[in-house]
Amino acid sequence: MTDLELVRDLSEEQLLARFVPLLPTAASTIVGPGDDAAVVSAPDGRFVVSTDVLVEDRHFIRAWSTGYDVGWRAAMQNLADCAAMGSRATSLVVSLVIPGDLEVSWVTDLARGLADACGAHGAAVVGGDLSGGQMIVVAVTVHGDLAGRPPVLRSGAQPGDTVALAGVLGRSAAGLALLGAAVADPDPTLVAAFLRPDPPLEAGVRAGVAGASAMLDISDGLLRDAGRIARASGVTIDLLDPADSVPGDLAALSEAAGRLGIDPLTWVLTGGEDHGMLATFPAGVELPAGFRVIGSVRELGASSTARVTVAGAEPPVTGPGWDHFAG
Ligand SMILES: [Mg+2]
Repeated sequence: MTDLELVRDLSEEQLLARFVPLLPTAASTIVGPGDDAAVVSAPDGRFVVSTDVLVEDRHFIRAWSTGYDVGWRAAMQNLADCAAMGSRATSLVVSLVIPGDLEVSWVTDLARGLADACGAHGAAVVGGDLSGGQMIVVAVTVHGDLAGRPPVLRSGAQPGDTVALAGVLGRSAAGLALLGAAVADPDPTLVAAFLRPDPPLEAGVRAGVAGASAMLDISDGLLRDAGRIARASGVTIDLLDPADSVPGDLAALSEAAGRLGIDPLTWVLTGGEDHGMLATFPAGVELPAGFRVIGSVRELGASSTARVTVAGAEPPVTGPGWDHFAG
């Protein structure tokens, strides 16, 4: 019965022979999997690099996420970090820790999730490592190409800039909450937003091309991540009232919020892991496709503390966002 085949039934070579052919390829790869290391072209003379790890029972549980979901999400959160620098991802290396009693099909599903997430964006998986362990760990390192442009940092926001967002707010957090509450027939769009986030990566590249002054992807919630730009840039960020600037995001959450007795504004302001692109643009720059205005940048206030306001006041909710070291 192939569907009950376990990782421990195969040698490492046999497992790799199932896994590697499923991985995405790209023209930028000069030497792919199979040698001691890969070789990837970097015509820019520089490359962007970032890494992110998913740990079973901390970032995902097998009861909710398939191997495909975990592969997709591991790729996408790395691709989003690349896009948030204004770069396009070219290659990823993936290290896997897997228990021997894991089904082989889970691992090949993970490869398919990696392939589908990367393939649409022209990125390849060029190598990695495999090890046994007590739980599943997926560690991905991504490399990106700036195509001659300056990287978009968090520290470049200037008073007078426009704050703009590409992507959705709060859906991943809502999906996670629905799964956690085990509600019957949860909104599939919200659940999918958590399991397989699909951030607007090309919008990040367009922002870099258009001359965005600062950018990051929203991984820990709008308030926290806007606060990171504010601190790095030494500015105040004034967000518009979400009811005016992102009414569609609030509306998309309203049914789930009602079922769980939660204010959808909480998810919009503090929900992480949607990986939308939060950027600032100098006044007069035409916003690239996919971006909408959600606020503005001004100088530090009298207290000289970088901060974020919502509708001209202190934020109405102060969710913790995502804390990696909390319980
Ligand atoms: Mg990021």
